[in-house]
Amino acid sequence: MEIDIKKKDENFLLFTIEGVDDAFINAIRRISTVEVPTMAIETVEILKNDAKIFDEALAHRLGLVPLTTDVDSMVLASECDCEEDNCPRCSVSLLLKEKGPKTVYSGDLKSQDPEVVPYNDTIPLLKLKEGEEVELIAIAQLGLGLEHAKWEPTTACVYKYYPKITIDTETCEACGLCASECPRGVYEFDEKKNLVKVIDLENCSMCKTCVRGCTSDSITVEGQEGKYIFRIETDGSLSPEEVLKRACDILSDKSNEVIEFCK
Ligand SMILES: [Zn+2]
Repeated sequence: MEIDIKKKDENFLLFTIEGVDDAFINAIRRISTVEVPTMAIETVEILKNDAKIFDEALAHRLGLVPLTTDVDSMVLASECDCEEDNCPRCSVSLLLKEKGPKTVYSGDLKSQDPEVVPYNDTIPLLKLKEGEEVELIAIAQLGLGLEHAKWEPTTACVYKYYPKITIDTETCEACGLCASECPRGVYEFDEKKNLVKVIDLENCSMCKTCVRGCTSDSITVEGQEGKYIFRIETDGSLSPEEVLKRACDILSDKSNEVIEFCK
């Protein structure tokens, strides 16, 4: 297996991967999206809400605030042996107490665990007018995207076949239509040399607009077998590398279970 990282930052990773098959890459994608646990607010006790937002709408908004996650220090509430599904092993409290006039942001949530805090401080939650108050206790728990999208660590997790473009130079009439019609700037037409070049192969989405535009049927576009371009973006709760690493561990555990079962 060969992996080549093309672009990377805190919440984004783009890489090519070669030497795997559809089943493997799709399993990693699916597990990354819905089986890698993260923290999210699950229950909210609203003590006071003078703002012009329903309690339910506020609770829903709180649930969607991405929280940084130390997965190893927490257990899923469903797997915790506490009776009320609310102990320091499975839950973290975040308190909110503010008085208007002000806009209340995610950064105003005071977490009781420094490892579990809003990833972004600037998500607006509600607006308070002069004299209005809000006071609540939010309980965050570890969960899976399988149960609710708020527990999905990824905002995008997709792959595509690595494109393979072949231009038949024998039949190409150098009309340049492939370059002018491609919506993604994959080709460049050199008018002086009367030549079409592929300048950004990895940006090709295999829409085949170029194939349809070509007047001499000289272009073929296909996916390269066993090679993919993988893109993953996270909401900040976990880094893309950590999501992928955990997805691989989960897939490995599942495979071992099957092997054990077959023995
Ligand atoms: Zn517990």
